[in-house]
Amino acid sequence: MLLLAMNLSARADFMIAKGGKARCVIVQQPGASLAESNAVHELAETLGKITGASFQIQEAKDSKVPKNAIVVGPGPVARALFPEVALDKLGSEELVMRVKGGRLLLAGGRPRGTVYAVNRFLQDQCGVRWWAPWATSIPRSPSLRVPALDVRSRPAFEYREPFWWAGFDAQWKAHNGANGENHSIPEALGGSIKYKGFAHTFYPLVPPEKHFATHPEWYSLIKGERTHKNAQLCLSNPELRDFVVQRVKESLREAPDAGIISVTQNDWHGACQCPNCKAIDDAEGSPSGSMLAFVNYIAEKIEPEFPHVAVDTFAYQYTRHPPKTIHPRPNVIVRLCSIECNFREPLDHPSNEAFLADLKTWSKMCQRLYVWDYVTDFSNYVLPHPNWFVLGPNIRIFRDYGVRGIFEEGAYAGPGEEMAELRSWVLAQLLWNPQLDDRALTKQFLEGYYGSGAGDIIGRYLELMHDASKGFYLACFLRKDAPHLRFQALAAAERLWQQAEESASLDPDPEKLIRVRIGHLPVWYACLGRWESLRKECREQNATWPWPASRKALAGTFREVCQGVPGRDWTQVRVLNEGGKQVEAFLKGFAEDPPDSDGPTKP
Ligand SMILES: [Zn+2]
Repeated sequence: MLLLAMNLSARADFMIAKGGKARCVIVQQPGASLAESNAVHELAETLGKITGASFQIQEAKDSKVPKNAIVVGPGPVARALFPEVALDKLGSEELVMRVKGGRLLLAGGRPRGTVYAVNRFLQDQCGVRWWAPWATSIPRSPSLRVPALDVRSRPAFEYREPFWWAGFDAQWKAHNGANGENHSIPEALGGSIKYKGFAHTFYPLVPPEKHFATHPEWYSLIKGERTHKNAQLCLSNPELRDFVVQRVKESLREAPDAGIISVTQNDWHGACQCPNCKAIDDAEGSPSGSMLAFVNYIAEKIEPEFPHVAVDTFAYQYTRHPPKTIHPRPNVIVRLCSIECNFREPLDHPSNEAFLADLKTWSKMCQRLYVWDYVTDFSNYVLPHPNWFVLGPNIRIFRDYGVRGIFEEGAYAGPGEEMAELRSWVLAQLLWNPQLDDRALTKQFLEGYYGSGAGDIIGRYLELMHDASKGFYLACFLRKDAPHLRFQALAAAERLWQQAEESASLDPDPEKLIRVRIGHLPVWYACLGRWESLRKECREQNATWPWPASRKALAGTFREVCQGVPGRDWTQVRVLNEGGKQVEAFLKGFAEDPPDSDGPTKP
């Protein structure tokens, strides 16, 4: 999937600036798209910040461009100067970086290739990092030269969505190569993949309040009765099928940009048990049988009018196991959902055997397999969730099984969720190129975002939590006692965060300390919630209590950090789980200190 060819030895380097003076101009060509034109300006501005030089943008109409120039986009100048590059054949997200004869070409296919060429160039060649919408690192270097590049590449996956609040900014997404539907990217930044509907669309397509009274037979038969409560649709009903075909066509006529339409089960069980549905499911060994028969029918009927649209459906919970003989049509996307998995271990670990078996089978029968992956703890957004070391291995497993799109569902409800910025950035990098070393990316992020001293200490915290959770089935909805949340691990974690705060307080950039204190919240959240049992463990182990002796005082510190800094949205932590639990509701229980008969002896 990833084509990368580099030849660094044959030709000369390309000089961008020397001693704070520009050594090249930037060429914009006629016919540039809005996104390409914006990329030109961003390139000039960012190179200016790096070198302190001022870069001239020159409109050019033919090949008479200065000897030293960066040519941006696939226009006529690029074609004249780089005839050996088949610019017209580049994929929509494919990019070229090429140095020849004193010129550097940064171009790509449309709509996003050139935007990616410029952004990847700034990141990989110039050292710029867009960690979070509020945190960018731009190296300073009055002299800047790049090697004789000859790169042609494209992202490993066609659909890449790290779904985190920290990753919802369109500019951040464009910089980091995410192209997902949610919080979509405007055309000016290259645009994004467009879904019509996204998830659980059965009832939006066939609203029971409109149709159940007249067509109860369109809804599930459960225990001998037609119902729409906790139910799905009767997928074998021919009239319903044709009705959904019409609804899908209407929806698509309203959304001419959509490349994918979601025809997806409701977010609960309740498959239809009528004889016709059941016969298909029994024969196919899974309720995915009737689901796929239904979705294939719709996909076939809409294809003549919408040849470029794929119909997307889920392999989720009761439909996760694939059918025996029915295969998805080429214009069907199956999105396989990993919700039941153990996220302490990679997906090829024995504890995830059943999921891997389903992934294998789907990958053989499905031409466009996508994945909906779960990368946070939805019950506790602000709690240590040591899944960080499986992100890379899992994306590589998906790639190895031919998965073409990945939705990484993280903590999306607001700022301040545990290691959110780390995960969204690392995921974006891996979705672009899964061959990257995820541990090295993690280290790079921690040092860049939190500062090198604090980043190193936080790296040790990640190792500590990972080690402490060994053998634990880490679900994405934590419901039981976890070893990494017991006294020994949490107390060690607390000490590391205290050291990280101390280190960040010495950083000349005051934002580093704000970021570290927000990162510290999950350990306090765990401590507050488990106060009495932690006090007891501490006493039994005759250990030293690393937190304040007053729970009320710790709750006060937690509140203060969550309040953040006025005017800076990303510092204000409000939501603590997917259900919308608010910080104040959580802290209400800690207004008074509990009796402490079991606690450690006072010094
Ligand atoms: Zn049925």
